[in-house]
Amino acid sequence: MYLFSQKAYSHDLYMHWKHSRVLISLLPSLSLPLCPSCLSSTHAPPPLIPLGPPVSSLSLSAQLGLCFQNLYEHEKAIALFEEDKVIMEETGNRGGVGWVMGNIALSLAEMGQNNKATRMFQKSMAISEKVGDKEAVCNASCNLAECLACAGEYADAVRHFKKAFQLAKDIDNETKADISAMGVGVMLRLQVLAEPAADPAAMPEYEVPLDFDNLADPLHLATSAKLEASLQGRILDPRLLEAIHHLATALAGGQGLARLHLAHAFFDAGLEDSATGFLQQYLARRVKHARTWCGGCGQTRSEDSPMLTCGGCGVVRFCSAEHQKMASKREHFGRSFNEKHKDMCGLLGKWRSKVVKDGLPEESLNEDMIAYLRNHNL
Ligand SMILES: [Zn+2]
Ligand SMILES: [Zn+2]
Repeated sequence: MYLFSQKAYSHDLYMHWKHSRVLISLLPSLSLPLCPSCLSSTHAPPPLIPLGPPVSSLSLSAQLGLCFQNLYEHEKAIALFEEDKVIMEETGNRGGVGWVMGNIALSLAEMGQNNKATRMFQKSMAISEKVGDKEAVCNASCNLAECLACAGEYADAVRHFKKAFQLAKDIDNETKADISAMGVGVMLRLQVLAEPAADPAAMPEYEVPLDFDNLADPLHLATSAKLEASLQGRILDPRLLEAIHHLATALAGGQGLARLHLAHAFFDAGLEDSATGFLQQYLARRVKHARTWCGGCGQTRSEDSPMLTCGGCGVVRFCSAEHQKMASKREHFGRSFNEKHKDMCGLLGKWRSKVVKDGLPEESLNEDMIAYLRNHNL
């Protein structure tokens, strides 16, 4: 699942095309699959919400390619994007070539062809840089960072997320900046786990930057982690401190998922009270918002959408059995910042039955939370 793909709108796109008989008759070789999001076709299609370049400005093949991409039919998507690429090249639309190569790379990555996807993202980024499209470079940097993380190249992943963060700031896109900040935090944590410092005291100290516009959580959390560790006579790995700062920045910007990563980061730092505190907040919100969110593809769904509920926890819902598999098979955090549901299922089930239903105090699950954090460090 890629951060800046357009999955949130797959259902809309699908309905749009499904009701567009003329278009389908023009493309007899393509049979649209059943919508995995909504098995009913009786209600009217929701309004199409364009994202990225206006959908109407894209070629027919690009539009349909996006549709298939969002339905995880990546081979069909790539074939259509390749057609679009030829059109873009013939018409001399360099920016368009960069955009469509980015989408081919996305589909390759989703198909598990990480090396090919990495090269394609790099080419796409180089073109977008040449034409000066900062937004496209920002997206490509994020997606490239995820590919690098999947290959275990965390230092490069950090570098690309930082680049995306800066570009997002340049173009005043706060949401992308916050998602990129979360990427920096997660990747720094993974880097510390993969390459632990022999002597944190010998590393250059991370100075939490003083950001007077945003003095709330990020500064407070990172400095308090540093302080608490030093009270225990320990020096934290400066990369971990930097990770906490970036994750807290993402949380302050509204990225609720950062709570899960902050729980892991504080646990890594040996600060268990803060770790369980963040995990409690995460679990509470997870249960509260489970109804309208697919734990597999990450799409937000309407209240009345037919969805499957996980039999294990009775909390998490999925668009389809396919999306349920996706949530538990997720092999690497690099490709998504969401929980791996198989690891979280038991704890979520206990939270629902003991805290939400029986009204026990949140702290009663502290032991289970510590066990989760110890056994599943990603
Ligand atoms: Zn789904
Ligand atoms: Zn479950």
